[in-house]
Amino acid sequence: MTYAVLPERGKLPALADPPVAADLTDEVLVELNARFERASAGQVIEWAVERFHPHLCLTASMTDAVLIDVATKVEPSIEVVFIDTGYHFPETLATLELVRRRYGLNLRIMTVAQPTVPLWKSDPVHCCTPAKVAQLERALAGKAAWMSGLRRQEASTRRDAPIVTRDKRGLIKLNPLATWTDLDVEGYIADHDVPVNPLLRQGYPSIGCWPCTKAVAPGEDPRSGRWAGRAKTECGLHDEVIPADTRS
Ligand code: SF4
Repeated sequence: MTYAVLPERGKLPALADPPVAADLTDEVLVELNARFERASAGQVIEWAVERFHPHLCLTASMTDAVLIDVATKVEPSIEVVFIDTGYHFPETLATLELVRRRYGLNLRIMTVAQPTVPLWKSDPVHCCTPAKVAQLERALAGKAAWMSGLRRQEASTRRDAPIVTRDKRGLIKLNPLATWTDLDVEGYIADHDVPVNPLLRQGYPSIGCWPCTKAVAPGEDPRSGRWAGRAKTECGLHDEVIPADTRS
């Protein structure tokens, strides 16, 4: 009789190390960006999955589930990260649950202990750092690459966003929807019956935490409702991405 070899008690097998992307030099990233400009989002994600899965995740804000829909068609078990700041709209959390059920997501919700006085009240300038950025750092530990739904048309600060780049941590960062217009997104949502946050139809084209998100009038800059009246335009999740120098 033979017996299966079990790991020694208390010692679970370690996860394989994330693949090193040493061959993805800046020159290679420029070539990849040129290729990906003509590729579909699904093809970009196929490349990333083939290369990095399971050391790959995507971050979702639950404004809509377009990136999740495209990515799970390529790899249903892809890890989806949602950063729960503790300050989300109820509609956003309801969308999260709807999307989780619809796609059977491999979902990882990052949470942080809440201070007695909410940071958005006591220190709004630095609130995003522990509530969002530090949680992203934890989510990316052990990863080789990550993706987000960032698009060039969303804001002037994003108009040069590359499709693939390297972040400050040395991880590969992908924006598979970078070239998509608002019309592309709307068309995809209609064609594939993709869940959307109900706030989108109530004047919130860009949805973040409720203390820092306002509805905007038709025709206004879609990002103008975020941190309205403050100098801030980004939360810091994407600040670290090396900008257009890796875009052809
Ligand atoms: S968006 Fe506002 S409430 Fe949310 S983490 Fe940033 S500062 Fe805090």
